Amino acid sequence: MNILPDPNATVASLLTPEAAKAAALAASTATAPGVLSIDLDALIANWRKLEKTAVPAEAAAVVKGDAYGCGTGPVTRALAAAGCKTFFVATLGEAAAVRAVAPDATIYVLDGFFQTTGDEFAKLNCRPVIGDLYELAEWDVYCRRTGWNGGAAIHIDTGMNRLGLTVTEAQGIVPRIAAGDHGITLVMSHLVAAESPNHSINAKQVSAFREIASQFAGVPASLSASSGIFLGSQFQFDLIRPGAAMYGVNPTPEADNPMQPVVDLKARVVQVRNVERGDTVGYGATWSARRPTKIAVLSAGYADGYFRAAGSNDGTRGADVIIAGQRCPIAGRISMDLMAVDVTDLPPNVARRGQMATLIGDGITVDELAHHFGTIGYEVLTSLGPRYARIYKGGDAKPAAVPTTAPAAPVAPAS
Ligand SMILES: *Cc1c(COP(=O)(O)O)cnc(C)c1O
Repeated sequence: MNILPDPNATVASLLTPEAAKAAALAASTATAPGVLSIDLDALIANWRKLEKTAVPAEAAAVVKGDAYGCGTGPVTRALAAAGCKTFFVATLGEAAAVRAVAPDATIYVLDGFFQTTGDEFAKLNCRPVIGDLYELAEWDVYCRRTGWNGGAAIHIDTGMNRLGLTVTEAQGIVPRIAAGDHGITLVMSHLVAAESPNHSINAKQVSAFREIASQFAGVPASLSASSGIFLGSQFQFDLIRPGAAMYGVNPTPEADNPMQPVVDLKARVVQVRNVERGDTVGYGATWSARRPTKIAVLSAGYADGYFRAAGSNDGTRGADVIIAGQRCPIAGRISMDLMAVDVTDLPPNVARRGQMATLIGDGITVDELAHHFGTIGYEVLTSLGPRYARIYKGGDAKPAAVPTTAPAAPVAPAS
């Protein structure tokens, strides 16, 4: 049974003409409520920087969660063209999306192997990350029965207590490694608190992993994701697995961000209105105008992944947006599809209907927004909503169904 969509089918070919038209409208920068631009050149520069930091280790790329909300297809294609050979995803569906654009890549599936998924692993030629002895046995049975020898990673738990064999369990399979012809292509573990360089668990994990990995003779070893790479060369082993840092999230939150921003997000001003002193704005009447106020209403809200937590009230300032180069504070609660911003301090007639406002970019970082959302940059990215038109810049980006010019002036929808 084929449990996956045909990776070669384009989205458009699966839609009725009406639905295809709706999709085209949604993808058009002229009609979509917002525009999400992904800078593939910055993404590649970030990946190269991580690779360089960890030389001579190989740099893989983690593209789970639709490439952290940035789009698996374009991101994978750009990274593969830049020389990335190994990709990590969470699920088989994600592996299919990677395989569709990277026919020669090595793909590891972090969620691992089930008896029922063997045929899909073989068909996609991707490798499970095995984290349990029963799972290992099931994989062995499948390989013996079918003759498939596509390889697998062994995940060893060194402190996360999420996925992975215990160190003792891993020691139990060392004789098998020593005997050769074992099919294990990678041994890995995952750090718990790598973004906190002074946390004592880092040293414990690296020494436990070094010890057990050294017994997996001839098998490449991998420990570090984005933040671990910056803990020093002893954390880098043979393969690094960066995700977030490639997409511009700061891997060293206690220091300046060494990465370039990748994501730029804009939403449209749908109305500008004047509010009298003492009037309130938005649901709950939690924000009141302390002066005659000009409010711009933007077409993005929590259904677009702009968390309600970023709103403001009379006691607390929320997040900012940028209009005409100037920061403007959010006024009141974020609605499902809309948010209000105080544009009183902008020069007259600068905030106009139809104009774009920057929600991420021009100095508003993913990490800054995460602070207002009460979360981390990872969740900001993976929450980026489906209603934005997506534009890819640089890389080997193929011409998409949307114009690639800046969205400042409305453009005709692609026909
Ligand atoms: C998500 C994940 C990564 C990538 O983590 P980042 O912090 O985004 O770089 C690497 N390894 C494993 C096992 C993961 O689950």
